[in-house]
Amino acid sequence: MPRYEFRCRSCDDTFEVSRPMAESSAPASCPAGHDDTVKLLSAVAVGGTRSAGPPPGAGGAGGGGGCCGGGCCG
Ligand SMILES: [Zn+2]
Repeated sequence: MPRYEFRCRSCDDTFEVSRPMAESSAPASCPAGHDDTVKLLSAVAVGGTRSAGPPPGAGGAGGGGGCCGGGCCG
């Protein structure tokens, strides 16, 4: 089962969730119980600086899957 990385905007923590691909865009609660989370793309560059773009799909409307859908585009 694929794992997806989420970030909580309440406590600014990141966590991973294992879930079916069909539910990849479903909201997730952080380990502390917050619901205000955003799904991160795989292959994130963790370095300490904030990423240059807006968070993907904040609020979680439907859709999902951009170019290749599998995170293979880097
Ligand atoms: Zn949280």
